[in-house]
Amino acid sequence: MKDRKKISILGSTGSIGLQSLDVINLIEDDYQINFLTANTRIDLLAQQVEKYHPIGVAITDEASYWDFKKKYNFDCKVLCGEDGVSEAASFSENDLIIQALVGFSGVRPTLEAISHGIKIALANKETLVSAGKLITEAAARNNVDIIAIDSEHSAILQCLIGENKDSIKKIVLTASGGPFFRTPVEDFINLSVKEALNHPNWQMGNKITIDSATLMNKGFEVIEAHWLFGLNADQIEVIIHPQSIVHSFVHFVDSSVKAQLGLPDMRIPISYALNYPRRLKFDFDELDLTQITTLEFYPPDLQKFRCLDLAYKSLNEGGDAPIVLNAANEIAVKSFLDYQIKFHQISQIIEIALETRQKKSINSIEDINYVDKETRIKTKEIINKLRN
Ligand code: MG
Repeated sequence: MKDRKKISILGSTGSIGLQSLDVINLIEDDYQINFLTANTRIDLLAQQVEKYHPIGVAITDEASYWDFKKKYNFDCKVLCGEDGVSEAASFSENDLIIQALVGFSGVRPTLEAISHGIKIALANKETLVSAGKLITEAAARNNVDIIAIDSEHSAILQCLIGENKDSIKKIVLTASGGPFFRTPVEDFINLSVKEALNHPNWQMGNKITIDSATLMNKGFEVIEAHWLFGLNADQIEVIIHPQSIVHSFVHFVDSSVKAQLGLPDMRIPISYALNYPRRLKFDFDELDLTQITTLEFYPPDLQKFRCLDLAYKSLNEGGDAPIVLNAANEIAVKSFLDYQIKFHQISQIIEIALETRQKKSINSIEDINYVDKETRIKTKEIINKLRN
């Protein structure tokens, strides 16, 4: 029997986790699952344990961990909390982890996996937004590949095969524009949670769907691209492409341009990250451009989508700014989803958090954790003031 690749999936009950398991189902002889992790969806996790027989699971939410222990009696390790997720990530027999956690919680397990020389397929952008310098330096030191599962970064990676870094003039990340691309900015004040969760092209978790509606998701991708490909902010552009067929472009110094195309199906970048740089054979739906007929491209409106502008500013400023950007965004998005603030206030709150922060230089994971924690407290205060 050939050697099976041993992988762990962090966030196996979320959208990317489920699609990763879909891909692995199609090639299951090639993969062995070591660990699966979840936050609160323990029944779904239990189904996954029955099907994939992992060595263990980790459950972040403590109450859910105890529920799982009470309800199920599997012959596998059951780990608890962030420590448990980090243990699953750095398990010495992992060849690769799929890191599909939500938000800042991805930073620590990713660093732990890298320090154990484990390859990272990264779907969680907040990790590189908050800790890009630390993560990429640790990856270089430990000779670890970080392959982004994001469709845009997968596209750039594919376009760069066989190219020299000094041949790149700039990259252009495409954005669908989300549900409000055509909504006049005057109407932003009345947008509901339901409308914001209704993404035109991609089915994703709630947090990233709101980030797509504000274009913060694209701002995070700009920062992520900076770390993954070593490019400056002025070499990374964003273009609105409502059809989500062209996943990104690379412009070269000789004025040639490469693009990668495909139907909006996350299983394609997942499978590419799983077996990079070799392609796996899958019969997903075929792209037929005669059926699509129109591909449109527009410049983004940074006045309307303030979050994208704030992301560029944070990248240019560096230091603690991207950490504040991310933490303030996580709190603001959660408040919006909890019906506490309005859609247009998300960017206002982040802007206040950035402008009123006490700047701190960032040299360690402790510094990052400190700024993240402080920003969350302060952002809640900003929100309380706005609501009163
Ligand atoms: Mg993306």
